[in-house]
Amino acid sequence: MNQAIELYLTKLRDKNTNRCKFQKAAHSISDLLAQQALLHLKTKTVSIQTPIAPTTGIELTDEIVLVPILRSGITMVPAFLNYFPGAAIGVVGLKRDEKTAIAHLYYNNLPPLNKYQQIIILDPMIATGGTAVETLKLLKENGIHEDKILFVAIVSAPEGINTILTSFPGITIITASEDEKLNDKKLIVPGLGDFGDRYFGTLE
Ligand code: URA
Repeated sequence: MNQAIELYLTKLRDKNTNRCKFQKAAHSISDLLAQQALLHLKTKTVSIQTPIAPTTGIELTDEIVLVPILRSGITMVPAFLNYFPGAAIGVVGLKRDEKTAIAHLYYNNLPPLNKYQQIIILDPMIATGGTAVETLKLLKENGIHEDKILFVAIVSAPEGINTILTSFPGITIITASEDEKLNDKKLIVPGLGDFGDRYFGTLE
């Protein structure tokens, strides 16, 4: 793993990291993950003119649509907009029932979608994969092909990754860490606790 990613991940995992430092580490690691995401995207060569001479460079081939999953996914949006300025943002709200761990869609505000766009789903934690699967179903219903979807997470459980890839084998998952397992409360081990509570300050 990239050493910078490991440093920020350590800050996020440490239960003594206060909210300010947790937020900063979350933004920094999201920035590094956006750079990883860039490596998976198609580019084309373009001719440009510097003030001195003509030369060539690259630009992204496809229009980017960011799909943050509420609520924690929105924390990754600013970092991704640094690399994908002007991207459309489709927000979906999926909350898992803490007892059953089943995800249910309570908010869906996607921009107009077409099969040529590149979708980047943002959710810091892949636990059971339930919210991810519901989001992917929604995107498929909107005509998006799996090979146009990147899913970016900070920490993932192997169970969640398996669930997602069993139903959607053609998508690409980028994650800073694949952890050991889920515990009986469906929390990731070792994980970092509840990402949203630590970032937003809603921990009791
Ligand atoms: N969501 C979190 O924020 N943490 C977990 O461990 C699992 C899901």
